[in-house]
Amino acid sequence: MIFNIEQIRADFPILQQQIYKRPLIYFDNAASTQKPSQVIDAIRQYYEHDNCNIHRGVHYLSVKATEAYEEARKEIRQFINAKSTHEIIFTKGATESLNLVASSFGKRYVHSGDEVITTIMEHHSNFVPWQQMCLERGARMHVVGINEKGELDLEELKSLLSEKTRLVALTHVSNVLGTINPVKEIVELAHKYGVPVLIDGAQGVSHLPVDVQDLDCDFYCFSGHKLYAPMGTGVLYGKEKYLEEMPPYQLGGEMIKDVYLDHTTFNELPFKFEAGTPNVEGVMGLQAAVAYLTGLGMGNIADYEDQLLKYAFEKLSAIDGFKFYGTSAHKASLISFLIGNIHPYDAGMIIDKMGIAVRTGHHCAMPLIDFLKIPGTVRASFAFYNTREEIDQLVFAISRVKQMLA
Ligand code: PMP
Repeated sequence: MIFNIEQIRADFPILQQQIYKRPLIYFDNAASTQKPSQVIDAIRQYYEHDNCNIHRGVHYLSVKATEAYEEARKEIRQFINAKSTHEIIFTKGATESLNLVASSFGKRYVHSGDEVITTIMEHHSNFVPWQQMCLERGARMHVVGINEKGELDLEELKSLLSEKTRLVALTHVSNVLGTINPVKEIVELAHKYGVPVLIDGAQGVSHLPVDVQDLDCDFYCFSGHKLYAPMGTGVLYGKEKYLEEMPPYQLGGEMIKDVYLDHTTFNELPFKFEAGTPNVEGVMGLQAAVAYLTGLGMGNIADYEDQLLKYAFEKLSAIDGFKFYGTSAHKASLISFLIGNIHPYDAGMIIDKMGIAVRTGHHCAMPLIDFLKIPGTVRASFAFYNTREEIDQLVFAISRVKQMLA
């Protein structure tokens, strides 16, 4: 055992409860993770001692809240090893980060006849913004396919890169297949053509150590709520050279330098992209989450979750009629599956009644689900507070599903 699981579980109050008279087993971590007391306490501490609007006051509380917010930015910078805090933009989540880049990068860099490359395994948040931006700007969107293991077709990606390509946008980890994409290799490849790469890290940053300078990616984004932090928080990392050139996404307070009757000048980075009052309480929680994860060690988390994944694979493979979707050797700790011809929704309902939270459906990845020609999957996604005993319970629940429905 890499770390003390009992102690870790004790940090998460929500895990202490029973549902349907059984201990809650939470396997819906890819949708949102639970929050440790350290995060909940940080929010309470903020409201009890520091609450005030930031960046705009000279009085004590305003200065204190501003300093706390900017300190959090420094810690997030460190967590993903960005070069500068100018490159860390707080957003309300991965979706907002992706829309920001699609809108702003699109306006600045994408014109009629240009091309953007994305993949079939994207979440709608990293698919629809590019699709719509390309439609608006008369550009073309290419979609890279996958093999039978759920791995990207890198040859296809290579063949699509050209002088017309303006951006490659892809996920670090697929929220359906669990595939960890070789993002560093893809960045290297795209950069040979001078093409920047955006990585949707919504499912990456919670499972793997991330170093944006090592990856050399041009944009990286994630949501706080999948990183044990509050909902309504998120981060967009972008290289300064692009962020400087990109126009603001939203207009209003904080993002301006000077406003005249007939024109406006804009604030410096990162504030140019942070219009309006931000989610300060959420960022306090995000800072606490990052400190908590750093304490455990992202490498340790990745190792522990990998052991859970291997255990689950071994146990679930033994079930007759069980089919995995996503069998890449490089895989984060989530399993998508179907059991015989049983509809994922029916399976999910029975599994729920046994106290186990799994997610069913298309997981906001309809192009992928259509490609696989299935109605959706059941998805069990593991976090570092999950255990082998809980996986045994899932195996038992699946045997009940088969008994009742097969
Ligand atoms: N990308 C991926 C890969 C995701 O899994 C998700 C959430 N399921 C998102 C983007 C969107 O995240 P949010 O809804 O938190 O903005």
